[in-house]
Amino acid sequence: MRIAVLALQGAFIEHEQALQRLGVESFEVRQKKDWLQRKDGLILPGGESTVQMRLLRELGLLEPIRQDILNGLPVFGTCAGMILLSQGHLGTMDIRVRRNAYGRQLGSFNTIGKVAEVGDDIPMTFIRAPYIEEILSDKCRSLAEVDGNIVAARQGNQLAVAFHPELTSDDRMHRCFVDSILA
Ligand code: GLN
Repeated sequence: MRIAVLALQGAFIEHEQALQRLGVESFEVRQKKDWLQRKDGLILPGGESTVQMRLLRELGLLEPIRQDILNGLPVFGTCAGMILLSQGHLGTMDIRVRRNAYGRQLGSFNTIGKVAEVGDDIPMTFIRAPYIEEILSDKCRSLAEVDGNIVAARQGNQLAVAFHPELTSDDRMHRCFVDSILA
């Protein structure tokens, strides 16, 4: 298995390290020719969604990535990566997200929660994180809530979380993504 990791900006190295711990090969996508490599899935890392969207457009990566996701390429978006998948961005997931949803004081925090399909007691690191304000179709389902807000969802080949599993040593979210590709 080979996973493409979008490496334009943000916390992409930590995702590569998580995959490595699971014995899964990855490669970085920095320009259009990288995208042509064979891949079984894609990780969209956290960072700054505005910057990532601008770079995706400028590099001509936005449409090819969007089309491959729509054609069923498994994708895992974390934090800004979740924003990328939402309506008004790549728009491949039927979710509307609120950016920087926790205000200034609660911009960053850690908690532990249950994620359906994945397990209990999953450590969740939120950094100026979004949450899902609305799920717009029944193709998409909520996997986790924190304080009544949806922080993880699955829509077929697309998995999105508002937090940063790559910044913890708990690899169960990555395992879940990899297992869903093998299934
Ligand atoms: N606040 C960032 C955004 O709006 C997301 C933060 C993150 O990915 N940790 O894109």
